Order: sequence, then structure tokens, then C-alpha cells
Amino acid sequence: MSGITIEKVNETTTIFKITNGSLNVTVKQGNLEAELCDAIVNPTNEKMDPDGGLDSLIHDVMGKFFADQVAAVSEEMEGNACPVGQSRIFVARTRTNPKVARFVINTVGPAYTPENAEQAAFYLQSCYSTSFALANAYALTSIAYPAISCGAFHYPPAEAAQVGIESIRQYAFNVKDVRFILYEPKNYQIFVKEWTKYAQKVNETSAVSANTRGRLRMIPKPSSESLNSVRCSLCNEKKALATGKILCVDCSQLARSTLFDNFLQRLRTASEVSFQEIQKVCRVLQPIFNYYPIAYTPARKYDHSIHKRDAVAEHYVQSYCDHQFRITMPMAVVGDGNCFYNTFVKLGGAGTTIETSAMTPVELRARNVVELALRMNEYKSNYQSLASIFDDCEKYVQYEMVLDTNYAAIWDLLSIPTVLNINVISVYPRVNGPDDTYYQLLNNKKFKPLISSGTIGEDREVKLLFSHCNKPINFGVKKENWTPNHFVPLLSLR
Ligand SMILES: [Zn+2]
Repeated sequence: MSGITIEKVNETTTIFKITNGSLNVTVKQGNLEAELCDAIVNPTNEKMDPDGGLDSLIHDVMGKFFADQVAAVSEEMEGNACPVGQSRIFVARTRTNPKVARFVINTVGPAYTPENAEQAAFYLQSCYSTSFALANAYALTSIAYPAISCGAFHYPPAEAAQVGIESIRQYAFNVKDVRFILYEPKNYQIFVKEWTKYAQKVNETSAVSANTRGRLRMIPKPSSESLNSVRCSLCNEKKALATGKILCVDCSQLARSTLFDNFLQRLRTASEVSFQEIQKVCRVLQPIFNYYPIAYTPARKYDHSIHKRDAVAEHYVQSYCDHQFRITMPMAVVGDGNCFYNTFVKLGGAGTTIETSAMTPVELRARNVVELALRMNEYKSNYQSLASIFDDCEKYVQYEMVLDTNYAAIWDLLSIPTVLNINVISVYPRVNGPDDTYYQLLNNKKFKPLISSGTIGEDREVKLLFSHCNKPINFGVKKENWTPNHFVPLLSLR
């Protein structure tokens, strides 16, 4: 279901296929200026005045139409034509020059020194986020990058590749075909190595459950804690306790995101033993929530200046959803295994926590695991109407939900309203026709908190579409075989 497959095409091309083919990342040794795709990313300078290298080469290949557009901005803005970390988009393909990329996105990478490594990483990530933002705004689906800043700007290629990986996870949205076209064979080797390491990490996490299924009984985990030993709830080590006498000094100083990474990791470790062990660890970890409160208010209205639309999901809404949902706009969220949790995190925005660091999808997943694992029977009896489409909930929590690379199931939907104190309306497109059981059970279905303080109004209601990364294929030939693989929120247009 989840994971990354690595396909070595030949000595100069390796493709990394991520979760269900929702995103392909190609690393290739070759010439960026010749790459045919929606957009190539051109590393330029703040004046956008090519002074040799790849920038000049791209100018030569793209020709006068492109060069004139760049020159116009360059002359007008002078030294500020494109600040470091920013991007500008220009038309490249014309009738007279048809065999090039459709667009060139100019970006300005940072100069790297070991002393300013952190700042350089920030600017490099900004090159990705701004270029992806333009690609999404222009509804582009394929984009090709060089090793930004790795040439004259001395960015270490391995670190640059890691920034690229993180950026793609965060910002690619509707761009489903990302390529790194690297001229230097050495950079090709390094980028392939970093992507392979990342793929192995993702795949190992997914495999933990699969490998342990057959030998659960063979791993006894005696808990021989004496009553007066003081253990940190998070790291489970005997240490001097700080925060509320439940966290040790080290754990209480962790960044919020790291703390919840460790939190979910403990649930994952418990999942190797049994579901009952998960419940036990959930009871130990649950008090930590008291020290990391959330104040969640979901966005409701679509704002084109901050939200990105998901064109594929829009197709589902307009072609297969009930009329009342057609006045909504689907917002793009990253299509990795965390899309369900990404959705809620993005809707909550920056104000969800009192800290400067926002709640991560991992934190939200961890909270949802605890809620569902500890109140499973209540959820089962509350949602008996859905019993026909439920599979084994204990197994789901143990083998899938604890992995942050895994797609969400209907179970995740039952407990999330309680965790965030919201109502969730699920919207299921009628791709398989009106007799589809999933459509009948899940379309326009309201999921409410188990216990709620006060009534929940429309301002705390989230519409969630069961969507897919691609438009339906073979529709009309093979019916009743469409299954969703992506969640996106629907925001009001009025
Ligand atoms: Zn600790």
C-alpha cells in the first residue's frame, strides 16, 4: 500500500515511485536545457543576467522569446529582479521553438558556507517552495531541477539532495513528475544515494509490521517496573523528571515536532508486541497531551491567494458529487501517505498551537491513535451502521495506523472529530454509480466527537472528499472498481 519503489532504468537514470504512483521522482544524468517537460528550473542570479554556466546555456536553447521576457524584468528591477530564494516564471515553448520545455522558472539559489549552513538550507528550500508554487498556480504537472547551488555556490550535494527530498514532500502538491537532471556524474551518484536512503527509510518503517506479524508471541516484553521507580513517560528511562513529573528533563526540552515523532515511535515499538501493548502505552503517553494543548479552528472559505486548488479533485466534485458540494473548492494537499493528516493540519494553519512550531501530521496521527485505541468499543458501537465496510480495527491500528507512511482508513475518520472537537462531513464521489456501498454509506455522512463541550456549529465543520491522485480511467468500460487513494478538504466558495 505504501512505500517507494526504486527503478534503475539504466546507468544514468533512476526513478523513485512513491506511494501508489502518486508521485514519481526521476534522477537523471543529462542536460537540463534539453529536458522536455512542463517547466525546467533555471539557476540564475539576482539580476537575472546570465553570466555563463547553465543559465547562459538555457538562454541559448530557449531563444529570443524567453530571453526578451527575462531582459525586460531584469532591466526594470535591476539588482532585485529575483531575490535569493525567490522564483519567476517565463514562457519558453513557442511555435518557432517547439522542442523545449513549456516554461522556464528562474530561481536564485543561496551561496553556501559552513557558517551559514542553516540559512542556506532555508533559502534553498525557498527556491523549491516558490518554484513549486508557480508550477501549481500554472497547473503544471512535470518539473525538472538542476542541483541548485551545488556548482559555483558550493552547496554540498548530499545536503542539497536532502533539502530537495523534504521540499518535495511539502510543496509538490499537484506536480506528480519531479525530475533532477544533473550534468555532473558525481552529483547524479550522490542524489541517487540520498534518494535511495530516503526510500529505504520509508520502506523499513512500512515493513516493521509485516515482518513481525508471524512472530508476535515470540517477543515477550515483561514489564518489571517497581511502583516507586520514576520513569519518563516518553523515553521510558529512569531520569530526573521535569514537566508535570511525567517527562524527563531531556524530553521536556525537545522541539514539539521531535517529541511527537518519539511519541509515535513508542506506539510503533508497542505495535510489535500486541494491540493490548499499544493500549497500555497509550495510557502512559496520554497525559503528555495536557502539556501540549491545541486550539483548532479549521479554515472554511477558499482563498485563492493562500490556498492551492486541486484540479483533479475538482473534476471529481463537479462530475461525481452532489449539487450542494459543487459550490466548494478542493484544496491541494501533499499526496503522500499522510494526506489525511496533512489535510487537517493545513486547515488549522499556524495558530493551532501556542508555540511558534505548528502541529505536525505526525502529532495529529499520534493523538488519533491514542483516541481510537483507548475508546475502540465506543466507536464501534457508535458506528455500527458502517460495520459492513469495516475490517479488523485492532489490526488496522497495530499494523497500519501507527506508521506515518500509511494511508488513512475509515477508522481514522471516526476518532479525528473528538481529537480536534470538530464535525467532519465525508463526501464520496459517485464514480461507481449510485449503488456503490461506499457511496451510500460514506457520502454526506457526519462524523461527530464522542464527547463534545457544547454544540458544534458550522464554523467547526470540515468537508472531506474521498479523492484520487488521478482522474478516473476506463470509466464506462469497467465500472464499480474505482477506489479513492487521496483525501482533500472542500472549502466554501461563498
Ligand atoms: Zn524522557
